Amino acid sequence: MASGKHFKYVVLGGGVSGGYAAREFAKQGVQPGELAIISKEAVRNSPFPPLPSVAPYERPALSKAYLFPQNPARLPGFHVCVGSGGERLLPEWYSEKGIELILSTEIVKADLASKTLTSAAGATFTYEILLIATGSSVIKLSDFGTQGADSNNILYLREIDDADNLYAAIQAKKGGKAVVVGGGYIGLELSAVLKMNDLDVTMVFPEPWCMPRLFTAEIAAFYESYYTNKGVKIVKGTVAIGFDADANGDVTAVKLKDGSVLEADIVVVGVGGRPLTTLFKGQVAEEKGGIKTDAFFETSVPGVYAVGDVATFPMKIYNDERRVEHVDHSRKSAEQAVKAIKGKEAGSAVEEYDYLPYFYSRSFDLSWQFYGDNVGDAILFGDADPSSAKPKFGSYWVKDGKCVGAFLEGGSPDENTAITKLARAQPPATSPDELKAAGLQFASKI
Ligand code: FAD
Repeated sequence: MASGKHFKYVVLGGGVSGGYAAREFAKQGVQPGELAIISKEAVRNSPFPPLPSVAPYERPALSKAYLFPQNPARLPGFHVCVGSGGERLLPEWYSEKGIELILSTEIVKADLASKTLTSAAGATFTYEILLIATGSSVIKLSDFGTQGADSNNILYLREIDDADNLYAAIQAKKGGKAVVVGGGYIGLELSAVLKMNDLDVTMVFPEPWCMPRLFTAEIAAFYESYYTNKGVKIVKGTVAIGFDADANGDVTAVKLKDGSVLEADIVVVGVGGRPLTTLFKGQVAEEKGGIKTDAFFETSVPGVYAVGDVATFPMKIYNDERRVEHVDHSRKSAEQAVKAIKGKEAGSAVEEYDYLPYFYSRSFDLSWQFYGDNVGDAILFGDADPSSAKPKFGSYWVKDGKCVGAFLEGGSPDENTAITKLARAQPPATSPDELKAAGLQFASKI
């Protein structure tokens, strides 16, 4: 076994949380050699040459600008923390700060009792404080034994390696047919970008409308019409049950449960993710599928913190425990955990995490933001006509007489700030008719 290395702090996972944690450590003060970030990106599963270095980057770029037909975004352009308007942390930044980036290194064993991590190559790393930031892995159709799901050109998207595979397939199949399996935000963003690349795109999902976890039928109707107007075909209420492939093993068709068959040169599957908690099973308390933490992201094991997609934390505003798979939370939870770690060392108090859920997506010329909770009655306002030159509409969610959530398509920065304030303040709602008539005016008055 290779000799071990010791660090005071280890961040396991060099994704969004890993990068924002590093910046916060630097802000709060770390000595050279105290902090390491260990990450498996970019362990290549593809025929591409190894990437020289994949320091933490803004993952949302992978389903958006990374796949654009013109001037696609490439590293180092979108390293953290550009996604929140901050400094771009290039690999040199870490070396200047004495932060060790241990990349292309997969940890296959974590022993919290002996505070030891072991890599696939047999290297060991010991720590005093561990920050788990392993994020999620995609759910694959082969996990369910879907027939033909291992055929070539059935692709997923989580890491930069996946994005490179998808980009290469798009180039190879220009003008061909793409089927997108899944109607969540990944499905919507990828359908748009595939269409922008001149593929003939069909989306397939089992629900009655897209993004059902957030969108109401009315909101979804806008996006579905908009996509249809752009030439994306949408097949709802059915699922892929198998795939045909040619003699080379390349996918040629998607077989649907309703009996129909869609020709396909590329299939992209976006059916959700699973938090990567396996390494810690039986060693930390879990809750709602994630690693349970307190309001400072410390787990049931003292000195072990969990942030980002893997953490189930107290959502103070709703007096509830939740796991959130959104980039804004991954950034803020990492910052909170590091503040808590350093605060504990200094004996200074840190305020409890008080997160307001925020989620956004962008596709074609569209851009929406959502704040708060999408529970209760939804009230649509504004111009939700997909053929308008500049559609702008939103929705409020009203529960127990209070306005608890707000969604806005096409909002300006000021308008998005207004709905943020509204979701935080949870003001008493007026009647549905009045809310509808007031539209954004209601939020602007908060
Ligand atoms: P990640 O950013 O996934 O980082 C986890 C890191 O840990 C990875 O680098 C991984 O390789 C590494 N790792 C995991 N296991 C190991 C191991 N055993 N050993 C070593 N390293 C390991 N959210 C939004 O709010 N808006 C969006 O528009 C949006 N777009 C997205 C688009 C895509 C394509 C994806 C995949 C996600 C998107 N998200 C979006 C979600 C958002 O990116 C995630 O919530 C966020 O990245 C979570 O941060 P994280 O640090 O917890 O995990």
